[in-house]
Amino acid sequence: MVPYGRQSISEEDIQAVVDVLRSDWLTQGPAVDIFERSVASYCGAAAAVALNSATSALHAACLALDIGPGDVVWTSPNSFVASANCALMCGADVDFVDIDPSTGNLSVDALEEKLRRAETSRRLPAALIPVHFAGQPCDMAEIWALADRYGFRVIEDASHAIGAEYRGDRVGSGRYADISVFSFHPVKIITTGEGGVALAKDSVLAERIKRLRSHGVTRDPGLFQGDGDGGWYYQQLELGFNYRMTDIQAALGTSQLARLDGFVARRNELALRYRELLDGLPLRHLLQRDDRLSAYHLYVVRLDDGALRRQVYDCLQARGIKVNVHYIPIHLQPYYRKRGFMPGDFPAAEEYYGRALTLPLYPGLTNAEQAAVADALRDALR
Ligand SMILES: *Cc1c(COP(=O)(O)O)cnc(C)c1O
Repeated sequence: MVPYGRQSISEEDIQAVVDVLRSDWLTQGPAVDIFERSVASYCGAAAAVALNSATSALHAACLALDIGPGDVVWTSPNSFVASANCALMCGADVDFVDIDPSTGNLSVDALEEKLRRAETSRRLPAALIPVHFAGQPCDMAEIWALADRYGFRVIEDASHAIGAEYRGDRVGSGRYADISVFSFHPVKIITTGEGGVALAKDSVLAERIKRLRSHGVTRDPGLFQGDGDGGWYYQQLELGFNYRMTDIQAALGTSQLARLDGFVARRNELALRYRELLDGLPLRHLLQRDDRLSAYHLYVVRLDDGALRRQVYDCLQARGIKVNVHYIPIHLQPYYRKRGFMPGDFPAAEEYYGRALTLPLYPGLTNAEQAAVADALRDALR
């Protein structure tokens, strides 16, 4: 069986987890500190906060930017539902910006036009959540300039994109975003089992996310209302959650991070090979822009004839090749339709979805397995 994505676990990873199990700490402790510092330093970011998932990180990121009832947050319809749900979890509204089907990322042209209309109707977004689809960074310089002009905040959903680069900076550096979020679910680039990180542009934002991660509670006397008390004392300043990562997960994360560049290199190598192996087939590859490096979380092809997709999918599944589809447009989910969205609202994302197929891509995929995937796809399209 060849899945569409899977983790790569080494003996060192296993040993790192075992070492934590023999230590004094299991949940958030020294290994989380080390992981946070390692991720921040890898990305060139001011500060990193580790949480129990990217979904939690997106929720805490929205709250830390004071997003709430009366606000609207925009994101891409071509994403996992968590990219949009985080705004609803804060009581804000969600709207979407249509995509550029050649990359699957949100279209800056569509964004600009929607912003112009929103300015007229006085319904500008409080924040935009661009999603680096399949691991390729969005047009962040243009997005950041629009954020400045129209006054919205930017949370990058970089769940697919740890290890990616944009114009010489690593994704997460904070040059073009207020907060960047990574996911460490096992199909993503590196894993902690479950987990996420929020990288913040400054330490004030990072401290706020840390507080939200742990019930809204602080032990910092500088933040207390009124007088403190003895060494046991803490105060709850706002409504937070238990979104903590464990030391067990963080130790795995730090160990995985050491191999991240190798993972991204192998993913890029396999992506290049797919272009050769699939040459001449009636499908198109996603466009890779040359001022950025994709982390290649996913390898997506768009079939020329979308009507064949179901048959191709079934045919590959039957041969043990567990292809997938990313993504069913979020606005077409029943929950979002109940909120008023309809087919036709974001035609590029819908058209893209009708043809998309995600092929297996992960560091442990062998050249022979990949060639078998290409053969099976060739047969299925015949
Ligand atoms: C995986 C994913 C998430 C959610 O990540 P979790 O760590 O599973 O919560 C959010 N956004 C995108 C784009 C994702 O791919």
